[in-house]
Amino acid sequence: MNIQNQLNKIKASLPENVELVAVSKTHPDEIIMEAYRAGQRAFGENKVQELAGKYERLPKDIEWHMIGHLQSNKVKYIAHFVQLIHGVDSLKLLKVINKEGAKANRRIDCLLQVHIASEESKFGLSENELFEFLVNEALKNMNFVRIRGLMGMASNTADEAKVRSEFRLLKDLFDQIKSLYFAEDEWFNKLSMGMSGDYQLAVSEGSNMVRIGSRIFGHRAYPQTGS
Ligand SMILES: *Cc1c(COP(=O)(O)O)cnc(C)c1O
Repeated sequence: MNIQNQLNKIKASLPENVELVAVSKTHPDEIIMEAYRAGQRAFGENKVQELAGKYERLPKDIEWHMIGHLQSNKVKYIAHFVQLIHGVDSLKLLKVINKEGAKANRRIDCLLQVHIASEESKFGLSENELFEFLVNEALKNMNFVRIRGLMGMASNTADEAKVRSEFRLLKDLFDQIKSLYFAEDEWFNKLSMGMSGDYQLAVSEGSNMVRIGSRIFGHRAYPQTGS
């Protein structure tokens, strides 16, 4: 895999308003540095320990995205540096992020993860849960988090029409929520959807942040789940 070529190809295919998060989970530091030297600055990881270690060792102008499921008791290890937490799916977790943000004296940007795929998954808010979440009074007092938008993963299927309709659903939710709850807040503006296999579809349905791993770095040596 020539990382620089892959990055250039992907970037050339993305509209200017779409941010590329290079998903570097499982890959060693020197591979990340190859992408870094090619100009890439936003990287995504899904395990707290791996993320914190890479942050410590690698250049400090890298923007680190936490894209995986995050356990409340691990927020403290990333609160002082994380650029964006993509997978917030409970009020309990957001409260902890707020508390750790206060300790680190920074406001932590978050996305709410919505469950759009038909596959079973423990992660992500349902549509109903999402709307319940957004009217919770507790949100008003959380001064150290900022909800920047939504994140979702489509079904892992070759059925393009299905994937497209799931992305479309998430974009519709994003637009509704923006006009209902964040109409005045120009910073509610991030819609994170699309991975190696489906990012073109996601972009055509309105994504402005894609999370791409294997198409840049090749296949991962071992599968990963959880945090
Ligand atoms: C691993 C992962 C990706 C990237 O997957 P690829 O298919 O390798 O592009 C994107 N989003 C999340 C949440 C991931 O865990």
